[in-house]
Amino acid sequence: METRELMKKATIFHSHLCPGIAIGVLVAKYVLEHGFERSSDEELVAVVETDNCSVDALQALLGTTYGKGNLIHNDYGKNNYKIYSRKSLKAVKLALKASVLDNKKLSRDEKIQKLLDLEPEDLFDIREIEFDPPILAQIEESVPCDQCGELTMDSRIMRYQESNICIPCYKEIKK
Ligand SMILES: [Zn+2]
Ligand SMILES: [Zn+2]
Repeated sequence: METRELMKKATIFHSHLCPGIAIGVLVAKYVLEHGFERSSDEELVAVVETDNCSVDALQALLGTTYGKGNLIHNDYGKNNYKIYSRKSLKAVKLALKASVLDNKKLSRDEKIQKLLDLEPEDLFDIREIEFDPPILAQIEESVPCDQCGELTMDSRIMRYQESNICIPCYKEIKK
């Protein structure tokens, strides 16, 4: 699909136009053009190292979404994107190259236009990586917190003096 078509779709989801979303669009474009299909379930997994605007393009265009659990954020503050396909057992990593957006004279709009004229290969270092995706999202039981009563995923419950305590209540107690 044309970069600008993808950009339109991603912008509807993201609600504004920005360089970040254009970067994410180019990630998605590369992925879709290299044998990976949009993920209706958990066929694809995206592991991203940033939580900036670009990630919304992956959610909109690749179907790797926070809610389905096939979008995983490692908080490293880098524009790195790893995409795994459970179908083809292939994986690819795109890492933003340093130089491309350095031109400080460009306005925000000029930056967006410049990005949309690039090919993913111009913007990213791209390589195949080992297929070792994170485990599938787990369905977990919930138990009520003994303090606030709110249902809480079992794995997030803390034990405190023989009680089941959720994380916020635990922090409150420990103040
Ligand atoms: Zn944005
Ligand atoms: Zn609680």
